[in-house]
Amino acid sequence: MTFDENQSGYDVVIVGGGVSGSCIADELSRAGLRCVMLEAGAHVDRGTYPRAEIDANSQLYWGGGIELTGDGRLGLLRPKVVGGGSIVGRAVLDRFDDLALDAWRELSGVSFFSRSALDPWYDRVAERISIRAVPEGYRNGNAEIFRQGCERNGYGYAPVQRAARDCRYQDGNCCIECVMGCRIDSKQSTAVTVLPRALEAGLTLVPRFEAERVVADVDEVTVTGRTESGARSSFRGRRLVLAAGAIGNARVLLDSPLASSLPALGQHFYTHPQTVMLGRYREPVGAHLGPVQSYASDEPTFRRAGFKLDNVFAPPVAIALQVPGFGAAHQRFMRDITHLACVEVVVRDTNPGRIRLGKTGRTVVDKRLNAEDRRRREHGVQAVRNIFASTGVREVVEGQVALGMHLMGGCALGDDPAVSVTSPTFQLHGCPNVYVADSSVFPNAPGLNPAFTVMALSLMAAERILEDARA
Ligand SMILES: Cc1cc2nc3c(=O)[nH]c(=O)nc-3n(C[C@H](O)[C@H](O)[C@H](O)COP(=O)(O)OP(=O)(O)OC[C@H]3O[C@@H](n4cnc5c(N)ncnc54)[C@H](O)[C@@H]3O)c2cc1C
Repeated sequence: MTFDENQSGYDVVIVGGGVSGSCIADELSRAGLRCVMLEAGAHVDRGTYPRAEIDANSQLYWGGGIELTGDGRLGLLRPKVVGGGSIVGRAVLDRFDDLALDAWRELSGVSFFSRSALDPWYDRVAERISIRAVPEGYRNGNAEIFRQGCERNGYGYAPVQRAARDCRYQDGNCCIECVMGCRIDSKQSTAVTVLPRALEAGLTLVPRFEAERVVADVDEVTVTGRTESGARSSFRGRRLVLAAGAIGNARVLLDSPLASSLPALGQHFYTHPQTVMLGRYREPVGAHLGPVQSYASDEPTFRRAGFKLDNVFAPPVAIALQVPGFGAAHQRFMRDITHLACVEVVVRDTNPGRIRLGKTGRTVVDKRLNAEDRRRREHGVQAVRNIFASTGVREVVEGQVALGMHLMGGCALGDDPAVSVTSPTFQLHGCPNVYVADSSVFPNAPGLNPAFTVMALSLMAAERILEDARA
């Protein structure tokens, strides 16, 4: 690592090297600013991604694979790797619709939450990464069951748009692997799209460094933290970008003097809780073959009812976690893994959670489903049961562990400092040299895949930072 001798004098210190951090680093570095990016996870690539599922879980996620909410009822999947969620995610990109953006505008008082204002930014993201649907000829048995089941029940569905370039399914590639890092660099993670350009333009990347505390003075921001071996260090710069995700940002700020002037810090936390539904069929389904996801629901009644369906699959350890029972019964079910179809019910959750520090200083996430969220979930579960029933399923299993993979909020964007943390110019209220534009600024749960909007907001914020720097 070469950062030791020269840890001060940066124009911008960026905490978190995931989706937002990499996008912002790219814009700022190419514009000539001297930036350093601190990332708690490792910098791995197509040659070094872990190849066993258990290793991937423990090496690419916080908490050794899964973290739990305070009451243990919801598992949280939080990426910890350079590239963040774009390395482990399924790369499905959604532009937000009016339903999501109208709610954000109303909650935040921020006028740019509209399609007409955001579309130019989505377009700019699309110039930086390749986005496409899975070609029809390669959709697998899981997709075929979903397609037939939706048609038989009159549910709308549509091919998803994925951040992928050329998955070369004709060569036998199976994207089930790509949630452990894409071995052919087809998945358009920020680590293979924008980050290399940023590094070429002079970005200093410091992997395996966890930021712990931030002190923001008028002219200078100091970030203190430690390397994996425990060595402590500080980085100083004129400006700070917090891009450590919903839990990461709240954690760093809660431990910092800034917390006392941010009353809404850690609040408005959402996760899109997901329930995995498995259908066992007599004939092989081959959900693990080819593309990991080709379809999602595109059904206005589902959208209004507060859920969507994702037609996905997961590697064996993740599936085993969802199957009830022990021993022989569990083993019997798992032996049939190639006969399983899978649909996830994704709830647009209404009950905000809270990220806080526990008595011992640990991060605690309070997050529960309220009656409305449970009703939304049940509605979705029933729709999946209908899809499976209409396609000859032998047995349906409802997953045992609810998961939150879209971690959002905690530094909500808004114009009122009493109920939000980040101002409409992406600066912390009352602290103009600290910027945030990642998933932590979401005012509530949009009910759609978040990463495209994280990238769009990050490009907006980068432009703002450049304007401020030039001024
Ligand atoms: C399994 C899975 C599948 C997903 N699939 C999709 C999908 O198909 N489509 C979609 O839109 N979204 C998907 N998501 C969600 C998406 O990945 C996130 O919304 C997105 O990554 C959020 O971007 P971010 O920049 O806010 O945070 P991240 O990309 O998570 O980046 C935050 C980074 O900050 C680092 N960090 C945290 N704390 C610190 C600290 N103290 N010091 C230094 N570094 C720190 C983390 O290690 C992490 O790398 C998925 C997520 C998961 C887990």
